[in-house]
Formats: sequence, structure tokens, C-alpha cells
Amino acid sequence: MAEETIFSKIIRQEIPTELLYQDDLVTAFRDIAPQAKTHILIIPNKLIPTVNDIEESDELIMGRLFTVAKQLAKEEGIAEDGFRLIMNCNQHGGQEVYHIHMHLVGGQPLGKMLALK
Ligand code: 5GP
Repeated sequence: MAEETIFSKIIRQEIPTELLYQDDLVTAFRDIAPQAKTHILIIPNKLIPTVNDIEESDELIMGRLFTVAKQLAKEEGIAEDGFRLIMNCNQHGGQEVYHIHMHLVGGQPLGKMLALK
């Protein structure tokens, strides 16, 4: 069994976080440390630790992440100018929270795709 993270508590509203969207499959809320003017996290309600753990039966959930990202980008007024969707995996990907999440970032030019240090 995968270990729960803070995101499970956010999904269950056990810690106060303004939810931007929630349905039976996914939940969205603002990142606590925004890296751009708009920085939203869209996460599955099901605990899937990393992209490596996604199963075929999760395809509906994974698709929902994209349709909610599209809707939120429109609501945030960043759809036309553009935005970036990011999903980090494991150490080399820079993943910090082991409950997969799609970052929706935008509201300003985002520069080159990778900043390798
Ligand atoms: P990762 O590096 O795993 O792809 O991204 C994790 C993200 O979760 C980071 O951008 C971090 O700021 C955000 N984050 C971590 N803890 C919390 C929290 O308790 N609340 C919210 N809203 N965001 C969090």
C-alpha cells in the first residue's frame, strides 16, 4: 500500500485549502509555492504515487486531469496566451510529493522548457 501524502488530506478537506475544482475522480487547488502567476495542481483522488504506477484502468482519471486543466486554464484567462502542463516523476524528474499531480502553470511567458542545474 502506498503511503498517503498531504494531498490525501487536501482531497478529504482535512486541512483547509480552497478547492478550485473537485469531482469523483480529480481535485484541483493552487500550489502553496507558486512558480508563476498561475500555478494550479490537478490531482487524482486515487492515490497513485508516480507516473510509473499508472495502470490501464486509470486512463479515465488521467484523461480527466487534462480536461480539468483545459477548463481551469480557460477560467484563469490563460488559455489563449498559453500555459504549460508538467508532471514530475521520481528523483530525476524533481518529484517531491508522491501522489501524482499535474502542474498547470502560466499567466506569463515561461521561457525554455528545461532548466537543468
Ligand atoms: P513536485 O515537485 O512533486 O512535482 O511538486 C509538488 C508541489 O506541491 C510543489 O510545487 C509544492 O509547492 C506543492 N505543495 C507541497 N505541499 C503542498 C501543500 O500542502 N499545499 C499545496 N497547495 N501545495 C503543496
